[in-house]
Formats: sequence, C-alpha cells, structure tokens
Amino acid sequence: MEDMDLKKAIQQHLEMDNFFTGGFTANANASEPKRQQQQNNEAVANAAAELEKIADEVRQCRKCDLGSLRTNAVPGEGKPNARIMFVGEGPGADEDAQGRPFVGRAGKLLDKVIAAMGLKRSDVYIANILKCRPPENRDPRAEEIINCFPYLQRQIELINPDIIVALGAPAARTLLNTNKSIGQLRGQFHEYYAGLGSPPIKLMPTYHTAYLLRNYSPENRKRVWEDMKKVLAELALPIPEHGRK
Ligand code: URA
Repeated sequence: MEDMDLKKAIQQHLEMDNFFTGGFTANANASEPKRQQQQNNEAVANAAAELEKIADEVRQCRKCDLGSLRTNAVPGEGKPNARIMFVGEGPGADEDAQGRPFVGRAGKLLDKVIAAMGLKRSDVYIANILKCRPPENRDPRAEEIINCFPYLQRQIELINPDIIVALGAPAARTLLNTNKSIGQLRGQFHEYYAGLGSPPIKLMPTYHTAYLLRNYSPENRKRVWEDMKKVLAELALPIPEHGRK
C-alpha cells in the first residue's frame, strides 16, 4: 500500500473507533478537544506508517547471515503509541514460522502476564533485539546485535513508550549497555537513552518468560509479578485484584 493510503486508512480507522466507542478506548479522553484528538490520530497514523516502513526494511534485511537462514523476519507488532513496550531476545522456531513475536510457549506465558496486568496484547508493543532467528536458538552474536539494534532503536523512538520492559539478560544488557546479570538488574527501574536531546525512558528488566518456563518456581513467578506491579504503579494503572499480594 502507498504511504499516504496507509496513513489515511489508519487515521480513518482511529476516527471510526472514536465515533463508535464514544471515545472510550484506552487512551481517549472524552474532554479532549476535537482538534487535539485529530492531531493525536494523525501522529499515531504517522507512527504506524513509519513502523511499517521499518518492518519492510527488516523483511528485506541481509546485513548478516541470519537474513538468509530465516523463514520469516519478525519485526515486532502492537500499538504504535503503546505506553508499555516489551523487548525480548530474538525469534524462536514458532516466531520464525509465523513472522510474529512471542507466539510460541514463551509468548503464551507473556500473554498471561499482560492479561494479569489488566491489559490486552493490543495495548502494548512487542519486539526483539534480533529480528531473525539464530539457528537452534543459539545466543545472539555481538555483530548480529550491532547490525540489528538500530531497527529497535528506531521503533522505540517512534513508539516513545513510557516504560520498556526488557525480558531477559540479552535485552536488558543491550538496552542498558551493561554486562550485569539479570538477577542484579531486575526489580528496579533503569534508564534507556534514546539519544542526545531525548529524555530517558524508564526501563524495567525482568526474567524472560522462556526462563520462567524452564525454571518455574513460585518465587520466580512472584519476582516477575512484583516487577510488573512496579510498572503498573509507575504508570498509575490499577493493579488487578488477583495480583495485589
Ligand atoms: N523469545 C524471544 O525472546 N522473542 C520471541 O519473539 C519469542 C521468544
């Protein structure tokens, strides 16, 4: 689809959404003047179109060998103006087969974490450090991260989330430029620097859902939930009843 067509289509969708829901969707504010609402819709439509451009570049990317080994690239997906962005390590077999992030077992658990937070998958944005699957799910190599990271940096800049949740050590270390362990990093907010002139974005590292599946214990589950409660509190979002303890 042409750029302008895509922007127009997204904007029309947002306007229709506001009309039929009476502006009751997650971010809509009934008292917001109409012009402001139109400007917001236009900004979201622009971000969505730019994100789609990045996704196209990722699908054509051959900067490293992973580009020729993949079935599908996995650029990321979600709400273009999400307040929360989840960032994982890289696609696994299921993601490679479908071209979508977090759709395998670890993804199903992430869906449950998001639901426990009182949110829907469509309320957030989900992406990875690597956009292509490393063979046999081996750890990402330094040069692969160096080649791929600029795509994520551009996605973060466009989405401009209030909070990034880094899932696991590779995501947290890359985004924070540190070698510390996930055990040392998780549980407290850090700052992600998008670049000179942009204010830092709060970043909460937590255990990857694949790690939780491999090392299930009530303590580890509780640690992730504690981290997510901090995210909700920071955003002044309600903490669902079932998870208050
Ligand atoms: N693990 C990740 O880090 N990312 C995915 O998309 C799926 C599993």
